[in-house]
Amino acid sequence: MGYAEVAVNSPVAQRRTFSYSIPPFLNLSVGQAVWIPFGPRVLQGVVCRLTERPEVEQTKDIIGAIDPLPLLTPTQVDLARWISEYYLAPLFDTVALMLPPGFERKLLAFYELPPGFSASSATSLTPEQSQIVSLLGREGRTAQSALEKALGQKKARRALDDLLAKGLVVRSEELQRPKVRPKTALHLELAVDAGVARREAERLAARAPKQAALLQLLADRNGPVLARETGAAPAAVKALRAKSLISTSEVQVWRDPLLDRQFVSVAPPTLTPAQEAALEQIRAGLRASVKGAPAAFLLHGVTGSGKTEVYMRAIAEAVALGRRGIVLVPEISLTPQTIGRFASRFPGRVAVLHSRMSPGEQFDEWQRIRDGAFDVVIGPRSALFAPQPALGLIVIDEEHEWTYKQEEQSPRYHAREAALKLGELCGATIILGSATPDLETYHRAQTGRYRLLELPQRITVRGETPLPEVELVDMREELKAGNRSIFSHSLNRAIGETLADREQTILFLNRRGTSTFVQCRNCGFAMRCPRCDLALTYHAKEETLSCHQCNYRKAIPEKCPVCWSRRIRYLGLGTERVEEEVRRAFPLARTLRWDRDVTGGKGSHERILDAFLAHEADILIGTQMIAKGLDLPLVTLVGIISADTMLHFPDIRASERTFQLLSQVAGRAGRGALPGRVVVQTYVPDNYAIAAGARHDYASFYRQEIELRRQHGQPPFGRLVSLVHAHANAEACRTGAEKMFQRLAEKKDHEGVNVELVGPAPMFFARIRGRYRWQIVLRGSDPARLLADLPLPQGWVVNVDPMTLL
Ligand code: ADP
Ligand code: ZN
Ligand code: ZN
Repeated sequence: MGYAEVAVNSPVAQRRTFSYSIPPFLNLSVGQAVWIPFGPRVLQGVVCRLTERPEVEQTKDIIGAIDPLPLLTPTQVDLARWISEYYLAPLFDTVALMLPPGFERKLLAFYELPPGFSASSATSLTPEQSQIVSLLGREGRTAQSALEKALGQKKARRALDDLLAKGLVVRSEELQRPKVRPKTALHLELAVDAGVARREAERLAARAPKQAALLQLLADRNGPVLARETGAAPAAVKALRAKSLISTSEVQVWRDPLLDRQFVSVAPPTLTPAQEAALEQIRAGLRASVKGAPAAFLLHGVTGSGKTEVYMRAIAEAVALGRRGIVLVPEISLTPQTIGRFASRFPGRVAVLHSRMSPGEQFDEWQRIRDGAFDVVIGPRSALFAPQPALGLIVIDEEHEWTYKQEEQSPRYHAREAALKLGELCGATIILGSATPDLETYHRAQTGRYRLLELPQRITVRGETPLPEVELVDMREELKAGNRSIFSHSLNRAIGETLADREQTILFLNRRGTSTFVQCRNCGFAMRCPRCDLALTYHAKEETLSCHQCNYRKAIPEKCPVCWSRRIRYLGLGTERVEEEVRRAFPLARTLRWDRDVTGGKGSHERILDAFLAHEADILIGTQMIAKGLDLPLVTLVGIISADTMLHFPDIRASERTFQLLSQVAGRAGRGALPGRVVVQTYVPDNYAIAAGARHDYASFYRQEIELRRQHGQPPFGRLVSLVHAHANAEACRTGAEKMFQRLAEKKDHEGVNVELVGPAPMFFARIRGRYRWQIVLRGSDPARLLADLPLPQGWVVNVDPMTLL
């Protein structure tokens, strides 16, 4: 008899597997999903390992397989185990990353009368019980949900329990049908031969022109035609079918998210020498690719230096070697141009995974990927877990982006680390691309973990061109000179000139809303979110105050709620206010705003982008959304309203983030036929992150920042683990954190682990959605070790390699 180690879908299962015996009638493989008994319940699990001997003496039998095929490859199972161990995440959470969309299904209960049931045995029943018995007698086997609908949930459940106990009904279970099922579409076909159909069409032409037209169309086309394509009215279809002239059928169709878009295929350009040199190394890496130690590259190139072109060539090389690729982008909806370029280069061979796709679309795409239908899969961080067979290349574009780390829910993994591990497991080459690499990535490239490839020159239609010139404006001087506007003289003049030249401007500010701080002038009271203690942001258009942490909304108070004064002032600056100011200063300019407040619906990003590309607006005002890899040829001016918004957060990556955003936003200017310029407004022009960002000087920023990190033992020199305790009660939150700290301190001394414990302390965002937050930070070369065998109590969240400690 064989045994299986199973990852179990239960919150108490944590990071381990459980041993089960495999009954003789089952033939199981690693990666297969199964039903297993777990305590009194039946749960889902995934087979992680097959063994001769169980880990425990007593084992129960696996009940059955959920799907006849394994849903994970053995490599994916290994990856799931690694993510679970490294990020201290429950094993099923990491296995679930790789399951097909819509996998989780419930067991449904059904009831029927027992065989040989006779009404005479059913005596002394309550009215509900007899109602159920007669219903089952009439209808036969019936779902519990239907009985609950007929009698009400409580009554039905009580009556069913009693009937079960008396042996008057029999219960059985069945798996709920998958919510997502292959989509089918109605097809029409002639049921008679074409000649007959044409004669009928002539006969019908006067009396029933619609039927005649449909017959004619089907006679011209040989074979089934999609009903929607014929434009036929349902009545005409019905009439013709009734006369047995046509037949209809439901045929399975694939939902293709790229279907409605047009792609013009263009011949690939001749590579520049720098691109050629980079590709040559990648090519060698792909050829030599071995399991255990595949090549990993950092492709460091300024914005517009031709990185995407190198990715596409690398994919083509991998395909020529019989392998496939995965390309990760920070966010699909913000990168329509990149997707379009891949779709044009590899027509019909690109799968796009998108969280806004319907479950059905995601399911279809997952299936086709598993069948090997695509050369390349493009998607956000989760696309790394697509079942792409013969994976040979993983590209992570804009690898410094924070969206690659899943911070909001378990497992809190970083797609870059997971990709490196996956590459090691299956021998896939890795390319990390960025103009502003993550500090840690660049450090690894310096120390030999990655091979560094550089594209130093920007390519435009003007050939290789220098980056746009950046002017740094000291806003303190503007104030001294009496300019209280949000635009410096320089920026004001530049916007005017750009408008006069009929070119486009981007204005960037990393904050939404009109005013970010609303305060009483009389007593100083500031409006805060009652659940988060954060300052509320004023939105003029909707006339509301809103919390950007939890979306709490409230009307604007006419009077101060504390002192009843009417003197309320509005401080701080958001994108809505910038738009108002632009309209005031440049009444003829056409503006567009691009931030989370205006991008709710499906396709809204693309609509804004298309409108701006079509020059329907002169000035685009936006948050960091506009910093992503967009190519906007008419933009010749980028204005950064304030470079300082993030700099003063007490966060380990505040400088790095400021530098990255500055460089990325500045990179939007001058990508077309016209040279560009950038104006950066700041109160701290001497700050190294801002000064280096303005000079496009990555090397200088890196040198200074890495030295500071070294001095303070911050990543990459010390690794961090954050432990956060959230609780609705302030006191309980603190004592819980203190107890945990005590426990960790003792464990550390006892085991002699070399780790520094920082805290416990309230977090910078001390309360979110009504829950207080205290934090303990562990720092050292392997801080997670101290937590490896420590079960965390309720209300605690562990985050290995957190992006931020706020
Ligand atoms: P990045 O990904 O580094 O931002 P892209 O690959 O988007 O850079 O290249 C910037 C622009 O230059 C694009 O319009 C692209 O089509 C063009 N381009 C890239 N490589 C070449 C080349 N070798 N010759 C001509 N144009 C190129
Ligand atoms: Zn007041
Ligand atoms: Zn809030």
